[in-house]
Amino acid sequence: MTDEFVDRSHILHRAFSERPAKIVGGRNGKKVIDASCGPSVSCLGHSQPEVFDAITSHLKNDIAYVYSGSPYTNGATEELADILLADKPGGLSKAIFVNSGSEATDAALKLAVQYWHERGQPQRTHFISRKQSYHGNTIGALCVSGHASRREFYKDFLSSNVSFLDPCYAYRMKGEHESDQEFAQRLAHQFENEVLRVGPDRVAGFIAETVSGTTLGCLPAVPGYFKAIRDICDKYEILLILDEIICGMGKTGTMHAWEQEGIRGPDIQTIGKALGGGFVPLSGVLLHQKIFDALSAGSGGLAHGHTFQAHPLACAAAVATQKIIKRDNLIERVAQMGHKLGKLLSEEIGPLPLVGDIRGRGLFWAVEFVLDKNSKTAFSPKDNFCGKVVKNALSSGLNILGNLGHTGEYQVDHVLVCPPYITTDAELE
Ligand code: PLP
Repeated sequence: MTDEFVDRSHILHRAFSERPAKIVGGRNGKKVIDASCGPSVSCLGHSQPEVFDAITSHLKNDIAYVYSGSPYTNGATEELADILLADKPGGLSKAIFVNSGSEATDAALKLAVQYWHERGQPQRTHFISRKQSYHGNTIGALCVSGHASRREFYKDFLSSNVSFLDPCYAYRMKGEHESDQEFAQRLAHQFENEVLRVGPDRVAGFIAETVSGTTLGCLPAVPGYFKAIRDICDKYEILLILDEIICGMGKTGTMHAWEQEGIRGPDIQTIGKALGGGFVPLSGVLLHQKIFDALSAGSGGLAHGHTFQAHPLACAAAVATQKIIKRDNLIERVAQMGHKLGKLLSEEIGPLPLVGDIRGRGLFWAVEFVLDKNSKTAFSPKDNFCGKVVKNALSSGLNILGNLGHTGEYQVDHVLVCPPYITTDAELE
């Protein structure tokens, strides 16, 4: 089903059945509050003159493009890595910048595999991930993503060297009489059993979103879960890869979401979205010093790269974005405004009959809808319940992101409420 505009447009839009509304910057026309920053990207909003100035100034005064495979670097890329890693958070000490989150996941997986090659254990190529997870849309990233509808067409194409464990989805999976600690331990045992089944000397890494985003809806793990996972990774020398593409860079009220998990940090971390605030595409991978040491002692280089890796303009925009976040204490503001948002959602939306769960951290929240609150019965995917919520919200001037297709075992009808770090009390209300 298409209409004339969709037929005529030379853009292949993601949904063929809908005519997309054309959106423009500026202050004319119908006002829309972007309450989810696209898919949790535009952390400084859509118009930030200081970032625009930094972008134009970079183009006028610096270099437009440098090939990362050449023996050159550039100021913006070095500065961005310094901003992120000068304090070596959790021992992370090196960065790679790429264009999308999916590329960051691919790079993280390839780095893990290269790491084991350099360490003399090339058989370590198995990854352990979680059901209903999302780590990106390229073939590499889909291999470790448990998102059912996104995998569907490509199933035969995707690596079978990946196991999928239960996610830490307390709303539906924690037993009625089970404590958080018992639930975390149950999932940790499942992880350890899978490591033993596959063989510890075959497992390269465990990958998880620190706070799940688009599939399970801003879902933080129960306390103790990541501590237990980290301990098992350490026991069997498995690399812990944390995907903070959607939940990181300040969104949960700390720079990295893992800082709230009582762990020393991951071995490899992916970042994106709020890294550059969406002004120019940028994502990245942060590596623990031990990965760099192994690569240095081994082949002495990175067996991975892209033409547009570490693009200077994207890095310049991200430098400006990160400087504003720091100067204006926006991460503290996220934590503070996040309390308000959580309270508003729980008090105003929580009591509504079709609202099953409200969860999140900082300015990263989701509302999960159910057909029946007591039994937690979900809508059928055919109902497209979230699609209707999103459409109605938009007609009232509110842009929110709904779940993107069926993700697996549980139908999780949720909308993401993750406004920019500069959001005001009035906008939240
Ligand atoms: N990882 C997570 C957790 C994400 O939420 C996303 C995108 O939403 C990705 C990876 C993929 O990022 P991109 O769409 O930039 O390729």
